[in-house]
Amino acid sequence: MTATLDPTDTLTAAQEPIAQERRLVTDLPGPRSVELMARKTGAVAAGVGTTLPVFAARAGGGIVVDIDGNHLIDLGSGIAVTTVGNAAPRVVEAVQAQVAAFTHTCFMVTPYAGYVEVAEALNRLTPGDHEKRSALFNSGAEAVENAVKIARAHTKRTAVVVFDHGYHGRTNLTMAMTAKNMPYKHGFGPFASEVYRAPLSYPFRDSGVDGAAAAARAIDVIEKQVGAENLACVVIEPIQGEGGFIEPAEGFLPALVDWCRANGVVFVADEVQTGFARTGAMFACDHEGVVPDLIVTAKGIAGGLPLSAVTGRAEIMDAAHVGGLGGTYGGNPLACAAALAAIETIESEDLTARAREIEALMKDRLRALQAADDRIGDIRGRGAMIAVELVKAGTTEPDPVLTKQVASAAHAQGVIVLTCGTHGNVLRFLPPLAIGDALLHDGLDVLEAAFAASR
Ligand code: PMP
Repeated sequence: MTATLDPTDTLTAAQEPIAQERRLVTDLPGPRSVELMARKTGAVAAGVGTTLPVFAARAGGGIVVDIDGNHLIDLGSGIAVTTVGNAAPRVVEAVQAQVAAFTHTCFMVTPYAGYVEVAEALNRLTPGDHEKRSALFNSGAEAVENAVKIARAHTKRTAVVVFDHGYHGRTNLTMAMTAKNMPYKHGFGPFASEVYRAPLSYPFRDSGVDGAAAAARAIDVIEKQVGAENLACVVIEPIQGEGGFIEPAEGFLPALVDWCRANGVVFVADEVQTGFARTGAMFACDHEGVVPDLIVTAKGIAGGLPLSAVTGRAEIMDAAHVGGLGGTYGGNPLACAAALAAIETIESEDLTARAREIEALMKDRLRALQAADDRIGDIRGRGAMIAVELVKAGTTEPDPVLTKQVASAAHAQGVIVLTCGTHGNVLRFLPPLAIGDALLHDGLDVLEAAFAASR
């Protein structure tokens, strides 16, 4: 059996709708995936890991079809990317038209309209009605780096403050900004300097500390250990992603923004994971009316094509000198076409409302599970960004072993779930907003059975 599908089969198959049901026709991984995984081991650097050893052939709605014909329920969206659905119809059409017109000119050489239109859309959609500018890049990490460059150019200061449990990427500066050592930083130093870490608000592990008190605690660390006059920017995920889907207590973010404004510090929201309808609002900042000076977006912006952006106050964004920002591929025309189609899909299909429906459905089911299982310490998140934090029964001690066990059991039954958290004890759910309720229920049934079996 060969590991690659006949190209004609793939083409024909791609025109057929994908049955929206979980369907296992082999053990997981199936024989074609096993064969391809052996080739991966021989060809791909070992450092590039995989969550499921199952190779994708097609995907759409809430299903990933593997090369053995198994239908898996997608509760991961390729880590919060295919928010509008995988191979979403408008995105496919827009990219096909663009790829036939031209694939690349480099925006810095001969520009094109798509880039400008994406910048206009970002300036319109991001929080705040002040005058804005945007710049486009390829990955979340690259955009975070550029937000720091811009904040430094504007403030003429160097220090950067990030938070406990924060994740900002895998480049040298963003590794320094990321909290967790293993697997992101271990052995890869030395890291960029002038990055300082402040304590976060973490309601599940912080009981009694409200948002205002947690902000005062963080500000005290910043003032005593960094000094506002040295600080270019504070960079924070409004809901933490890799760190464990931690929602700070109400009032934490607004208090930080107020302090930044009063001290001439640029407040940067890293919405790489939370942006573009994922949390039931266009941006997570919107839930508390937070208006960041700069906002970093990626992932869900372009339906699966690589694109990221920094958007913010015109006077800050324009502080970088001409030629100081850019890159060969930043704002690639295919990615821009995809982004415009993804944004149109979010707006015309009211996908923020769909994310809120998914939140209600998932939280209802998970709360019922929690009521019967004292190893589920916390259920949290917003929209289609929901997590359960697992602990040793009746305590707050993290249980990464159980987390792995439940995730592996779900994988074996054809449900793609991801884990996260500094202690690796958080199951996270990031379904595409194109998923149907029946698949969500089936996925949660599998999860429920996995919890029961792990007793
Ligand atoms: N910031 C956040 C909040 C993220 O979740 C991620 C990716 N998980 C990044 C930055 C880095 O994005 P990328 O992997 O596209 O570089």
